[in-house]
Amino acid sequence: MKILVSNDDGFQAPGLVALYEALKDLGEVEVVAPEHNNSAKSNALTLHSPLYVHRAANGFRYVNGTPADCVHIALTGLLGYRPDLVVSGINNGANMGDDTIYSGTVGAAMEGYLFGVPAIAFSQVEKGWAHIDDAAQVARNLVQQLIAQGLPQAQPDHAAWLLNVNIPNRPQAELKPLQVCRLGRRHAAEQVISQTNPRGDTMYWIGSAGPVKDDANGTDFHATALGHVSLTPLHVDLTEHQSLPAWTQRARSFKPLA
Ligand code: MN
Repeated sequence: MKILVSNDDGFQAPGLVALYEALKDLGEVEVVAPEHNNSAKSNALTLHSPLYVHRAANGFRYVNGTPADCVHIALTGLLGYRPDLVVSGINNGANMGDDTIYSGTVGAAMEGYLFGVPAIAFSQVEKGWAHIDDAAQVARNLVQQLIAQGLPQAQPDHAAWLLNVNIPNRPQAELKPLQVCRLGRRHAAEQVISQTNPRGDTMYWIGSAGPVKDDANGTDFHATALGHVSLTPLHVDLTEHQSLPAWTQRARSFKPLA
């Protein structure tokens, strides 16, 4: 069993160290992770500057790039073999609902999935790493059982799956059972914050994520608020299939575009 581990908080993040420590005896486990915090980098790839890989004293490899860069170069030559599973995290904070669009943690896992490798993104619901070793044990227990049941063959044919898992910051004994959920929704992000720098220029800080809009029963927000570990299978298909007929009809009324 060959497992590639990455994250978006950077190779020194406690969540990555805890995840590696929890998984390391389940197989051949290698870490390729960003040098710096790359949260909210989604699936971004670095195309206009070179990437360098270094090895830390603990054996982790780190890259001056994004989470998706790390998994991408790992799968396309760096490792020299095809891992059976990509595991990303454990993220410092929730990746639920619309967060999954922006998340570098999900982006790293999704990069594996796009290459046909089954992948899991793990996040802790609250920032700050409280009970991170408990979360890492949850991750280990899930990965171990998925391996025992047999992973889909890692092939470049999208037969793989992509799982998004959020773990409340609680001792293991206080965690409620796993719930399989759909993603909830957030409102649009908060207002941008503008400040003046010492040279008089206006600078902007992206505001925080929006409050929850849909945390109905059956969503990740709902499950984790009750103390459950949430699991959402994700796919990558941005087509709004149900709107295809309506847009096809509407397009008939357009004057020729060319
Ligand atoms: Mn992060």
